[in-house]
Amino acid sequence: MLTADQVLIAGGAMERPVPFPGWTLPGVMNAGAGQILFKAHGIVPADGVVLAGSGPLLLLLAWQYLHAGVEVQALLDLTPMINHLYALPRLPRALLARHYLTRGLFYKRDLKRAGISTLHNISELRAHGDERLESVSFRHRGRRERLETELLLVHFGVIPATQLTQVAGCRHEWDAGQQCWRPCLDAWGQTSVAGILVAGDSAGIGGARAAEHAGRLAALQALHALGRLDAASRDRLARQDRQWMQEDLHIRPFLESFFRISDAMLRVPDDDTLVCRCEEVCAGAIRAAVADGHLDSNQVKFLTRCGMGPCQGRQCSQAVGHIIAAASGKTVAETGHYRERPPVNTLTLAQLAGLYPEERE
Ligand SMILES: Cc1cc2nc3c(=O)[nH]c(=O)nc-3n(C[C@H](O)[C@H](O)[C@H](O)COP(=O)(O)OP(=O)(O)OC[C@H]3O[C@@H](n4cnc5c(N)ncnc54)[C@H](O)[C@@H]3O)c2cc1C
Repeated sequence: MLTADQVLIAGGAMERPVPFPGWTLPGVMNAGAGQILFKAHGIVPADGVVLAGSGPLLLLLAWQYLHAGVEVQALLDLTPMINHLYALPRLPRALLARHYLTRGLFYKRDLKRAGISTLHNISELRAHGDERLESVSFRHRGRRERLETELLLVHFGVIPATQLTQVAGCRHEWDAGQQCWRPCLDAWGQTSVAGILVAGDSAGIGGARAAEHAGRLAALQALHALGRLDAASRDRLARQDRQWMQEDLHIRPFLESFFRISDAMLRVPDDDTLVCRCEEVCAGAIRAAVADGHLDSNQVKFLTRCGMGPCQGRQCSQAVGHIIAAASGKTVAETGHYRERPPVNTLTLAQLAGLYPEERE
């Protein structure tokens, strides 16, 4: 147990969980997990892999696997074609951070030269198998196609990890551009709760460099609040970080609209698709709760137990919001988010019992 007058939360991001038929089968994993296994432990798929979803990470991972000698059976791009149109007006600003764009084009060129099959505008992704993944099917150019594979890595972008700020009672808002909840912050990263600041991806996805600058800005504000730095010095020291952060964020509006996940993918899993994998609650049960008049995420949670399992809603909370919104005609912002309950991470009973040693004496 630690106490402090100023607390800076920098819990990062997590991959956006998106339920689709078969997503809980062994052999279906997140692309981020694949990348961590590769980068941290040198572990790569032995018998080929299908990559599916939307976002720069998929492209990067395909490229990394290519250079590690892994057989990439296919790259299924679920980015809707219409996104190109929406992203176009944001391209001029993105060109100010063109190094990100050129890197993406470089990966694409290498994958094409290596003959890796990239299928665009994919929809209706499904994973099939009895005990574990055996194949993947999808719709492409109006036809249903199927690929035999033992490993499917999916990616639908990343969302802020807001569990800590939610438990702390900070106010959050729905970010329609990033399709996620994020804490409401001022320009220094201060939340609605005095003494709690947030920096980095848990404040909204901005990437690694922007996270560093935001961390320094929040630290300067914490020093100021503690009386160690006057306002003029804080502002002076912050100037460079603020400018670099703005420059780095030029690419974001373009990326957000280009890789925006389609409503069809987010909102309409079949009734028998598992949404809460801990408590085994399907999309149909959530829709039934909505039909009974429960239009709020927390009401649906109480009624169905969706989000009450060991992951405490990390995997299902966003999907529940989207399903309620689609079924009720509300916006996701109106459906609200789960009220987070501690502990934020799983811990043993011994750890829990050891939190207050003075009470045992
Ligand atoms: C799967 C994935 C792949 C990515 N790939 C790339 C890439 O290839 N290139 C790139 O530039 N960016 C990538 N990013 C983005 C990049 O990682 C982030 O932009 C950057 O790390 C954000 O920094 P941060 O300090 O906000 O969070 P992080 O660097 O994620 O740090 C958060 C820290 O908080 C800790 N933490 C979280 N919750 C708790 C808790 N309850 N208690 C204690 N500690 C906690 C975590 O363990 C972690 O150490 C990726 C992100 C993800 C999720």
